[in-house]
Amino acid sequence: MTTSPPPFLVVGGSMAGMLAARVLADHGPVTLVERDPLPEQADARRGLPQAPHLHALLARGLGLLEHWFPGLRGELIRDGAVLVDGGKHVGWLGPYGWNPPLRRGALESVWATRDFLDAHVRARLRRDARIRWVDDLRVEGLVLDPSRRAVRGVRARDGSILDARLVVDATGRGSKLPDWLRDAGLAAPHEIEVDARTVYSSAMVRLARPLPNGWKVIFVLGAPPKVLRGAAMSEVEGGRAMVTALAVGGEPCPEDAKAMASYTSQLRSSVIGDALQGAEWLGPVRTTRSTTNRRRYYERASLPAGLVVMGDALCAFNPIYGQGMTVAAMEAEALADLLGRMPPDDPRLAPRANRGFGKVAEFPWVAATGSDLRVPGTRGEPPPGLALAQGYMDRLFAAALTDEEVNRRTTRVLNLAAHPLSLYAPRMLWAALRQGTTEMVLGPVNVPVVS
Ligand SMILES: Cc1cc2nc3c(=O)[nH]c(=O)nc-3n(C[C@H](O)[C@H](O)[C@H](O)COP(=O)(O)OP(=O)(O)OC[C@H]3O[C@@H](n4cnc5c(N)ncnc54)[C@H](O)[C@@H]3O)c2cc1C
Repeated sequence: MTTSPPPFLVVGGSMAGMLAARVLADHGPVTLVERDPLPEQADARRGLPQAPHLHALLARGLGLLEHWFPGLRGELIRDGAVLVDGGKHVGWLGPYGWNPPLRRGALESVWATRDFLDAHVRARLRRDARIRWVDDLRVEGLVLDPSRRAVRGVRARDGSILDARLVVDATGRGSKLPDWLRDAGLAAPHEIEVDARTVYSSAMVRLARPLPNGWKVIFVLGAPPKVLRGAAMSEVEGGRAMVTALAVGGEPCPEDAKAMASYTSQLRSSVIGDALQGAEWLGPVRTTRSTTNRRRYYERASLPAGLVVMGDALCAFNPIYGQGMTVAAMEAEALADLLGRMPPDDPRLAPRANRGFGKVAEFPWVAATGSDLRVPGTRGEPPPGLALAQGYMDRLFAAALTDEEVNRRTTRVLNLAAHPLSLYAPRMLWAALRQGTTEMVLGPVNVPVVS
């Protein structure tokens, strides 16, 4: 009699966990364990405290979701999400001024609340018979083989043991895996934090009038080290808009509607404050400080076989750069690629996967921490060559205001849709050289009239 192998086991049912489950399901049955009871609809839940804040799904992330769930983009839009053409629907005030519209090659994005997006992905996965959902169950430790060299499963709060052929930790920023490893007598990974003391305050509103210039999304960025306050606003499902105040370097962030209106009117551009005039406030202002960049180098740790770590549990970013979900999707893509090349029970799979995820996280990590290290008081070790890279990027950002090709290529890289080395192509080097040094525009900056 042959016994079938235990399932792949994914711990954490948010974006990283769901995408890992989707990819693994092509190679065998999956059990997905989530500590929260999961809602059927787009309702709030405890394990997704970031959901009341603005969530950008970068173009690369949207493309990958559509690849694994064909038709998802259309479904999101049909149910009310907002389709945004990056060329004409985004007002972007960067440190050097408003980015002009892109006439061609613009990227598309879909804007909705995080609970709405997760509910749609979850609904797709619930229909996938290869995936068994176990919700309302907290995992509390690893189960190893007697030699402690391989993972055999996990231990849950109710005392049950869930057997697994491969365990994926996708439990997010708060992952306890380092503790679980220590509890098992193993070493925790090396960990680095870079903390720009970013605060997010967000609220849902119904605007009294459309945003200017046909925009559906607006970013009024700060200009560190001098301007540490910014904000963003986007239309989301249900004819509503979400406004998020973003303060770095320990600056205070508004905590109620009145303070939010006043804060957004005093930024480098008052466009978001102006848009809030006459708006109906649909809920309270929510604040979070859970924004530290934190990277755990599992790819360098000697982990037991059969253990992989994805998403925020591996590398959490300052959310200002909108990278987390897309990086999780790119890690799932790397896992899919590996599973296409080696059998799932190959003991080399997990270490290779962890190394691959480390590579995926590298550029977003450098981009986020490099930018955060401009903020006065940011704690963290600067990577070598940081000042040079910052100076180069400054020239490109300034050149992007008058050079459409530079605008297009920098936008693609920031959307993780193009390789970062494309920023160093001769065309870009030349543009940066020609640009010379430029002063940041601290404000106030008028809203451009876009025809
Ligand atoms: C304020 C804020 C704004 C953000 N904005 C953006 C944005 O604009 N764009 C973007 O791409 N990303 C953004 N992010 C990041 C994004 O939310 C995450 O990168 C994304 O959710 C992927 O994370 P994850 O799945 O790894 O972890 P999480 O989303 O944190 O999910 C972890 C899951 O694991 C479950 N869990 C935890 N412990 C256990 C356990 N012991 N047993 C069982 N289950 C467990 C939790 O309940 C939860 O469901 C933002 C984050 C924050 C904080």
